[in-house]
Amino acid sequence: MIRFDILSVFPEMFASTFESSLLKKAQEKNLIEIQIHDIRRYTEDKHRMTDDAPYGGGGGMVMKVEPIDRALQAVAPDRNQALVILLTPQGEPFRQKSAAELVTHKQIVLICGHYEGLDERVRVHLVDLEISIGDFVLTGGELPAMIIVDAVARLVPGVLGNADSAVTDSFATGLLEYPHYTRPAEYRNWKVPDVLISGHHREIEQWRRRESLRRTLTRRPDLLEQAALPAGDLAILTELKGLREGVE
Ligand code: SAM
Repeated sequence: MIRFDILSVFPEMFASTFESSLLKKAQEKNLIEIQIHDIRRYTEDKHRMTDDAPYGGGGGMVMKVEPIDRALQAVAPDRNQALVILLTPQGEPFRQKSAAELVTHKQIVLICGHYEGLDERVRVHLVDLEISIGDFVLTGGELPAMIIVDAVARLVPGVLGNADSAVTDSFATGLLEYPHYTRPAEYRNWKVPDVLISGHHREIEQWRRRESLRRTLTRRPDLLEQAALPAGDLAILTELKGLREGVE
């Protein structure tokens, strides 16, 4: 069981994502637990302020440190048990291997920023890890938190209907995944590759591997530089590159 605690000033944003489909089932089966915490509950002033104007002037509001510190003390009293993550565009880029590492933790706390972001003292004193979901800026950390919970939860054994999916998915093997088809075998003269309806499992495996290599070569050649590929794959890649050069 892995537990996610999310600190947010917009807790209502999470319902549709966490209360449908596989994430809902995963919670019902007690494979994961998700708790959403309204940061406002941890304010102590009469206006329940979670943000304030920046020191030094300038536009935008900055999220205050005290409510977040109090919220963390409440949801993760034993800091050795919990990994506290700040969502920020300035963080470490989130990748499939980040999800594979996060799934080894018992409790993950995700802090969602808003406005200009958070008082720097949150980052310096309260956080173990800073994660960005990409080189763009969103209005808040809620969507990044949902993305991280989803990517990590699907790696928990039993969450996916088909356990093989997480193994063959894009990035899990260092490559992009091969293309998929389903019935009908022909639609508007668009045909499913013959090999997939041949029933020859070995040939199907070979075709899938080759397509996976082809896709990675054409769309994400950077992944190939890091992948530890067996000699057979390298031979296929050399052949695919030769074919490409022949066409160009
Ligand atoms: N002023 C900040 C900066 O320039 O780095 C951006 C603040 S952003 C408008 C508000 C909040 O959205 C951030 O505190 C963070 O929690 C979240 N956020 C925005 N983009 C993100 C991204 N790419 N990855 C993770 N979190 C992001």
